[in-house]
Amino acid sequence: SRRILIAANWKMNGSFAVNTSLLQAINGIQIPLIIAPPSLYIASVRQQLVGTTLKVAAQNVAAEAQQGAYTGEVSAKMLADAGVSYAIIGHSERRQYYGETDALVAQKCQRLHEFGLTPIICVGESLAEREAGLVQTVVERQLTAIIDQCGIYALAQAVVAYEPVWAIGTGKTATPADAQAVHQFLRELVAKYDKNIAENLYILYGGSVKADNAASLFAMPDIDGALVGGASLVAKDFLAICHAA
Ligand code: 13P
Repeated sequence: SRRILIAANWKMNGSFAVNTSLLQAINGIQIPLIIAPPSLYIASVRQQLVGTTLKVAAQNVAAEAQQGAYTGEVSAKMLADAGVSYAIIGHSERRQYYGETDALVAQKCQRLHEFGLTPIICVGESLAEREAGLVQTVVERQLTAIIDQCGIYALAQAVVAYEPVWAIGTGKTATPADAQAVHQFLRELVAKYDKNIAENLYILYGGSVKADNAASLFAMPDIDGALVGGASLVAKDFLAICHAA
């Protein structure tokens, strides 16, 4: 059965020195934990986590296969080579600022599966979409694009993160009840294809998760942990979130 899983999305933050002191501060944490540093730091972070239970994630992956003339891209094969076990795909910042479409995100999911990496698939609506009553429409479209391209069995080795765009970096968290409603909707969507996969699927919440709201989110039956941005950069804040698990 599902426990609590916490993932730290460092986004474009850190340095060799800052990362090392942050990792030393959180090293003793016993719950399942995933750290997603900028790609430049992945190998170094992984090196520092050898012998711990912490896992490393990439924040993105190339949609193209293996290798080739794709300047600036890092392939799933390279991530596997570096001992990376997870990659975040479809983060709203990538969708918003880099024009990533549902189809592109699905292609990235495919690449990760080819090399045995677990995708952390981000879905979530904008404020305008929420106000227009389109929450379920949007998250269903985003997740179904993956299922259509990769097959439902891809979700047997995947994590989903529900991150309402209006809650990211804004200090506005979805209420536990609002988040739970979307998580339940997503799990029921997956259950229409495969009940067992739905039951075992980790669905994380992301968007202004802090020490003071983590416990009430984790108490919800379909919220299986958090994808933490800002608060994952401050050791004491991140430790407090982990202790709420
Ligand atoms: P914040 O925790 O800073 O709101 O970011 C959430 C997020 O986008 C994690 O991927």
